[in-house]
Amino acid sequence: MRLTLKIILFGSILVSSGWGFFAHQRINRLAVFTLPPEMIGFYKKNIQYIAEASVNPDRRRTAVPEEAPRHYIDIEEYGDSAFTKLPKYWARAVEKYPEDTLQAHGIVPWHIYRMYNQLKDAFLLRDPEKILLYSAELGHYVADANVPLHTTRNYNGQLTDQVGIHAFWESRLPELFFDQYDFYVGKASYVRDVQLLAWQTVERAHSMVDSVLREEKLLAKAHEQTKFNYETKGRQTVKVYSLPFSRLYHQKLNGMVERQMRRSIKMIGDLWYSAWVDAGQPDLKLLINYKPSDEELKRREEELKLWKEKNLKARDHEGIEN
Ligand SMILES: [Zn+2]
Repeated sequence: MRLTLKIILFGSILVSSGWGFFAHQRINRLAVFTLPPEMIGFYKKNIQYIAEASVNPDRRRTAVPEEAPRHYIDIEEYGDSAFTKLPKYWARAVEKYPEDTLQAHGIVPWHIYRMYNQLKDAFLLRDPEKILLYSAELGHYVADANVPLHTTRNYNGQLTDQVGIHAFWESRLPELFFDQYDFYVGKASYVRDVQLLAWQTVERAHSMVDSVLREEKLLAKAHEQTKFNYETKGRQTVKVYSLPFSRLYHQKLNGMVERQMRRSIKMIGDLWYSAWVDAGQPDLKLLINYKPSDEELKRREEELKLWKEKNLKARDHEGIEN
């Protein structure tokens, strides 16, 4: 290797980026094919945007300070039985914990529900741009919540001398083995309790953290010499987990990366579909080649706002959680 070549240590880049651009784009794209006939035409027409915009939340992270916490939650920060202790709904959570504490430890499960509601509003407004924007971004956070290392304080193995494992699991492995995965996940189905599903997703992902870290540690001990090698990408030489080591680890995980990708795809389709149903199944075919004028959209927004205010008062009386 030439000495002048620039070596990028993988550990210092791509930390906690979430699935990597490759996987995010594939996941959002594949979710389109779970949709029912009433929806799929509109989404297929815009599939390129749905895929490309899937990574916008990660692109924003450096510029927008409040963006980062939306991608993860450090469950251990809440001690034992965190999943029973943490309020499912944001309004209750900020009553129990200071908001900056919640933000510091990450808010992904609550943010999924927030995005879901924004998508539902976009359907109510029949605003094609907003429908696409929130669909793409909801897809991003749902996929992140399915990544085990997005649910732990030790998100990059930095506490266990395994720095780099984050991008290894969510970028390198899917990029290497994507072609072997089966992505037929069936049709989207209606989700009755979106906020609950978001929490179940985080809880399941978190239950995998131990094996994600343990298996890598065991393999690294046995394969110290062959764990890494260098790959040239353009003008740069990058230190990567070697192909043989990646294969071994992937095998040890026993289909976990594929399973979590499949779950992400199915859940994204389910939530797009549910938001559409909850908004009264607006006719998306009308939106394929038509965009309402700005004045019209403004009028609809005002209407929705008024309707919500009335609705909220009624719900308050019934004591329904929001
Ligand atoms: Zn992310």
